[in-house]
Amino acid sequence: MTVQDEGLGDLEVWIDQDLCTGDGICAQYAPEVFELDVDGLAYVKSADDELLQDKGATTPVPLPLLNDVRDSAKECPGDCIHVRRVSDKVEVFGPDAE
Ligand code: SF4
Repeated sequence: MTVQDEGLGDLEVWIDQDLCTGDGICAQYAPEVFELDVDGLAYVKSADDELLQDKGATTPVPLPLLNDVRDSAKECPGDCIHVRRVSDKVEVFGPDAE
């Protein structure tokens, strides 16, 4: 089933670094999207593999990686990975999802 089938549309993800424990689970699940920086916290990466070092930076979720990103949000010990719809900014996976 694709994301479109689920009616989610395009998704984006951001990390609340204030709550990140630096365990690196997200970077293990989806290294194309998440990476630990030298400060020991996780950040998202842009589509062209650049680490986005601004706190709370947002990046698109590539469809083939959706399951990995969703699992990252589910397993994140800091509850600080937020996946939301681009169109209306409603969180679909993460601590603020309904
Ligand atoms: S899984 Fe969550 S707490 Fe762990 S490094 Fe990634 S964002 Fe931080």
